[in-house]
Amino acid sequence: MVTKSMKIKSDILFSTVDLMARWASAKSMWPLSCGLSCCAIEMMHAAASRIDLDRFGCLFRSSPKQADLMIIAGTVTKKMLPQLLNLYDQMLSPKYVIAMGSCAICGGLYAESESVVSNIQDFLRIDASVKGCPPAPEKLAEAILLLQKRIIENSHNDQSTSSSPCSP
Ligand code: SF4
Repeated sequence: MVTKSMKIKSDILFSTVDLMARWASAKSMWPLSCGLSCCAIEMMHAAASRIDLDRFGCLFRSSPKQADLMIIAGTVTKKMLPQLLNLYDQMLSPKYVIAMGSCAICGGLYAESESVVSNIQDFLRIDASVKGCPPAPEKLAEAILLLQKRIIENSHNDQSTSSSPCSP
């Protein structure tokens, strides 16, 4: 028979294990090396020595099968969208998406163009967005840290705490 104190102990144990798993997952987010246009240069800048995303546990991977973070860096064209979704499908779960720059968030300068996707949140769940054109590389680091904090707190599923994806 499971006593009340045994139940409390197992709850404490499992909540601690769960917290550790979330902490480990947050602190080892591996972004996919995938850039779509000029914002990708800012993403590369964030990975380089000055900001050095490696120190936050973000090691860029060239295979989607080893990545759990997609940074949509640049304009998503309608021609590129199926490839992007294909890469996303191959990524590890749980997986996260950051929309980087006005173009990725809502089409930016090209929002009126018939060849550009201006509603990426209709295709992918956006966990964080980095505003600006071009967005500052520091802001990408900030978004990653914010996402890590939400994963540890288990609040990343709460859409009310996400920044509005469609305000550039
Ligand atoms: S937001 Fe600006 S910098 Fe980024 S892809 Fe669009 S035009 Fe280029």
